[in-house]
Amino acid sequence: MNKGQIIKALSGFYYIKTAEGTIYQTRARGIFRKKKITPLVGDYVEFSYGTEKEGSLENIFPRKNELDRPAVSNVDLGIVVMSINSPDFSSSLLDRFLVSLEYRDIVPLIYVTKTDIATEADYIQTKVMCEDYRKIGYTVILPEHKKEMEANDVKASLQSYVEDKTVVFIGQSGAGKSTLLNKIDPELNIKTAITSKSLGRGKHTTRHVELISVMGSLIADTPGFSAIQFDEITEQELSECFPEMWEEGKKCRFSSCIHLNEPNCAVKEAVKNGEITEYRYKNYLSLLEEIKNRKPRYGKKGEK
Ligand code: ZN
Repeated sequence: MNKGQIIKALSGFYYIKTAEGTIYQTRARGIFRKKKITPLVGDYVEFSYGTEKEGSLENIFPRKNELDRPAVSNVDLGIVVMSINSPDFSSSLLDRFLVSLEYRDIVPLIYVTKTDIATEADYIQTKVMCEDYRKIGYTVILPEHKKEMEANDVKASLQSYVEDKTVVFIGQSGAGKSTLLNKIDPELNIKTAITSKSLGRGKHTTRHVELISVMGSLIADTPGFSAIQFDEITEQELSECFPEMWEEGKKCRFSSCIHLNEPNCAVKEAVKNGEITEYRYKNYLSLLEEIKNRKPRYGKKGEK
């Protein structure tokens, strides 16, 4: 049996790329429909292939994770695009993105844009925050101040992180995702532009996500979710999505500590002495509040 990854789904066909780089056109076996399993772009699969033009998708390997928007599975790396200004760099938004990536076991990478046009003061302020995130262990790409990143610079800065990975770009609208994608590969950006244009007219509203081979990686041609819902995550899981709190939290008196009002909380202590930044803790608290106030969901749970 041949192995590969689905890189495109269109009109009932699944296009599978093998490790050698060959692309096969397949149809899914009827058994999937019977079992109500929809193959997803990103899926690692087994398929058979005769002499005919069309192969047969036989088996889907278990998914590491799965996103709704774009509908793609087995994402390894999430590049969070954050601009210094317009929209302003916001740690609370950044932390929402980071949590939702951590929760899905996707490695985050923070990419800061609009550094070429930022004021000195804004650049320095952002740089200080970037250092905070690096200290936690996140990879942050902060281009030089006042220097425009050419396509080659962008690619060189990302190359080692994206290689052999399935990648999605996420970020707030206006943060410069399409400019960045355009520099990586114009093919990525064309798709983005077409999608946003056609959305307004109610035509082609189905988003066909496709993984494009760039720099030895597969990049989703549709930028990911911009608004994040915390539908599934529990209070307990939230602190696991803040790596520095998760680490420090091991020293809390209670193993179930959510670092709110519990006595002998190592996390609150670390915030007090500056080992954990106050704004990250604040962002954590506001997400915790959101989870506490969340209306219970009915029906859907466990369906997937
Ligand atoms: Zn605690």
